[in-house]
Amino acid sequence: MKKVYIFMGPPGCGKGTQTAHLADFLNLPHIDTGALLRAEIAAETPDGIEAKRKIDKGQLVPVELVGRVIKNRLLKEDAQNGYILDGFPRSMEQTKILERIQEEIGLDVQNVAFYFDIENHALVERLVNRRSCPVCGKIYNIISNKPKVEGKCDIEGADLIQRTDDNEETAKLRFITYEEQTKPILDYFRSKGILHTINADQSIEAVWNEVKEFIID
Ligand SMILES: [Zn+2]
Repeated sequence: MKKVYIFMGPPGCGKGTQTAHLADFLNLPHIDTGALLRAEIAAETPDGIEAKRKIDKGQLVPVELVGRVIKNRLLKEDAQNGYILDGFPRSMEQTKILERIQEEIGLDVQNVAFYFDIENHALVERLVNRRSCPVCGKIYNIISNKPKVEGKCDIEGADLIQRTDDNEETAKLRFITYEEQTKPILDYFRSKGILHTINADQSIEAVWNEVKEFIID
């Protein structure tokens, strides 16, 4: 039986930290769809070239292409006991593709879905306080997770930056778009009895304790 953990939540909800933690804890691969696509693009594979063409035109990467890239990843050796999905599925169409891929791969699968629930205003506050290191990618928060030296990364001392899209207006818009797209998936997973709603407006440790309760033996 393969155990599959699906993490959902709006941008900035903190699921990245928790997926990484769970991946370490269970020794399962953390499959980040965005990173997979970037790797295809960097390697200039046929899928990567097509994806880049769409992105350059400001269009969405076709869902079939994303599905193909994910399927290839799920066939690798390290994903045979299970895996953790981050950033996929994001729509009902993608949910159906995931189910199809799981059927095609053909091993017993047990899906567990987490929804990181957080109020819009809490998320906006978190996003506008977010700073990141352009060198190592480490994320800070100037209120709750400060660097040791103001404005500098703890790892290599690089100047921290604020992403230009981490402002109030963009954050609110991203949140609304995310909610609209995700609502049907949440209803669907809920109807299958596999959805766990996590209160994401808490400390990293408190969120982790909630996540841990739903790990399958
Ligand atoms: Zn750094």
